[in-house]
Amino acid sequence: FMKMTVDKNACIGCGACAALVPDEFELNDSGVAYAKNETVKEDLQDDVKTAMENCPTGAISIEE
Ligand code: SF4
Repeated sequence: FMKMTVDKNACIGCGACAALVPDEFELNDSGVAYAKNETVKEDLQDDVKTAMENCPTGAISIEE
């Protein structure tokens, strides 16, 4: 399984991850992204990797 976390201190709230994978990322009331699920759904793992690669601040980490 894959776990994904967002470093809330690094996230600038650009929303790119949530736009790309709305089932896995959401912005909270403070405009910081967080992982919606305990583990990443199998069919969304590639998309989450893409989101991680495209995050402008490198705030997303993946653990497999
Ligand atoms: Fe935050 Fe990165 Fe997502 Fe932008 S792409 S909202 S900086 S985690």
